[in-house]
Amino acid sequence: MSVSLRHGGVRRNLSDRRARPGPPNDSEYGLLALMISKIEVIDVACIGCGTCWVACPQAFKEHDIGDDLKALPTGGLGDEHIMRAAAEGCPTLAISLLDEAGVVLFPSEEARAALRASTDW
Ligand code: SF4
Repeated sequence: MSVSLRHGGVRRNLSDRRARPGPPNDSEYGLLALMISKIEVIDVACIGCGTCWVACPQAFKEHDIGDDLKALPTGGLGDEHIMRAAAEGCPTLAISLLDEAGVVLFPSEEARAALRASTDW
């Protein structure tokens, strides 16, 4: 049996995905990346480093809040792989990539919890 997803006119065959139970791993993210439909930034976690808005200005913008800079989603979406790279490049994992249903595709809650445990915020 073949499973496929249709998103934005692109049909993806996920039959390979059925071979391994459980959540998708990083090597399968290429498939999930095609389903990114929303971006969120955790304001308190953002340190304003600028990585995201430099990497993907279609999806992120700089927001000046006095003495600090924070990232804001533009409301638009960029290239899926670049959005993924921007989220991965965020040093505080402040960026969440979500699908149409609001499911967080990146980062995993485990990754965020591990970062929280190792930092002060
Ligand atoms: S990469 Fe992360 S920490 Fe840096 S500006 Fe973007 S959201 Fe903030």
